[in-house]
Formats: sequence, structure tokens, C-alpha cells
Amino acid sequence: RFITFEGIDGSGKSTQARRLADALRAAGHAVVLTREPGGSPGAEEIRSLVLEGDPDRWSAQTEILLFTAARRDHLERTIEPALAAGKIVICDRFVDSTRMYQGLSRGDLRALVDTLHDLMIGREPDLTLLIDLDPDTGLTRARGRQGHEERFEDFGPDLQQRMRAGFRALAREFAPRFRIIDGARTEEEVARDVFSVVEQALA
Ligand code: C5P
Repeated sequence: RFITFEGIDGSGKSTQARRLADALRAAGHAVVLTREPGGSPGAEEIRSLVLEGDPDRWSAQTEILLFTAARRDHLERTIEPALAAGKIVICDRFVDSTRMYQGLSRGDLRALVDTLHDLMIGREPDLTLLIDLDPDTGLTRARGRQGHEERFEDFGPDLQQRMRAGFRALAREFAPRFRIIDGARTEEEVARDVFSVVEQALA
């Protein structure tokens, strides 16, 4: 099974992905926990190219190509082999993040993201957990985190709100595979909710 976490920066998805991996391992499952951009040596190199340095280094279109190239490598080297071995793969962000961040933030490039995805990736997750949270709360949480590298923390509140709305719209568009999780509760409560949703999906 292929499970992804999505949400705006500071929504708590990385923490929840880790907790879910721990809980599933404790229940006896073989789990691979991975992330995007990155998740394989080549894709981690591309992550540095995209997220470090001058944010205007790449055009929006080139950035989409780089994210797609990273995802292809991640899929070939990490995700597909793990799924083929019968493991549960949990990924912190996947194509839905590209549909949102690259598809919305610098003009409407969603069609380009989808076309490249169809051509080069062609896999949607089996289950996607959208950790839904108000951007103000998310930003406060993200700023309090050590070593965070949010390149988009300077996104104005408007764009953050658009991202949140965009993720919720995406959840409706791909309804059967998405679950919206209320991220405004305690870490513990969110984790319990996530685990019960995943347990049902695995049953
Ligand atoms: O999820 P994580 O915090 O690792 O993401 C790192 C940064 O990359 C975030 O600031 C996120 O907004 C950005 N990002 C992006 N496009 C993606 C995925 C993440 O710009 N497709």
C-alpha cells in the first residue's frame, strides 16, 4: 500500500507520518518512510538544487521538470521496490504537493504538472491524508521548529490561504483516495485519528 501525507507547511504532516510509521511497525508491518522532494540519493540532490539558493534560479516550468525528475528517481529507486516487496510505503508529500505548490503559486500550471505526471510517473497513492490546518497556526508551528528550511514561509497569508483551499479542493477532486484530517487538535489526537483511518483502509 502507498500512503501519502499532504498539507501546508507547519501542518504537522511530517510528525504524523513518522508516528504512523512507528505505529504500523509496532503492529508488525514492514514500513518504508520516505519524503518528497527527495527520498532517494538522486532526488535528494535535486531537492538541494530546488530548495537551496536563489528562489528565482529556475523558471516555474523548469522547476516542475526538476520535481518530476526527482519523483521519477524516487519512484524507481525507493517506492516501487518497497511496494514490490510487499511493504507499506508512507511518503511525506507526493504529486499533490506539486499540483498545489508548482501548479498554483506561479501562475496556473496545473495542466503541465498533470501532463508530466501522466507521462513520467503514472502512479497515484492508494490513500492520502490531508492534514488540514489554518495557515496562521501552521506558520507559528513551522517557525518554532529547529532547522526548518521553508522556502515559502514568506508566502503572504493570502497565498497560504489559497494553498489550504487548494488542498481541500484537491481532496474533493480525488475524493476516494483522500481523507481530510483536522490538524488543529493535539498531536496525540491527530495520530489516533490517522491510525484508525489507515487501519480501516488496510482491512
Ligand atoms: O515538506 P517539507 O517541509 O520538507 O517541504 C520543504 C519545502 O519545499 C516547503 O517549504 C514546501 O513548501 C516546498 N515544496 C515545494 N514544492 C513541492 C513540495 C515542497 O515548493 N512540490
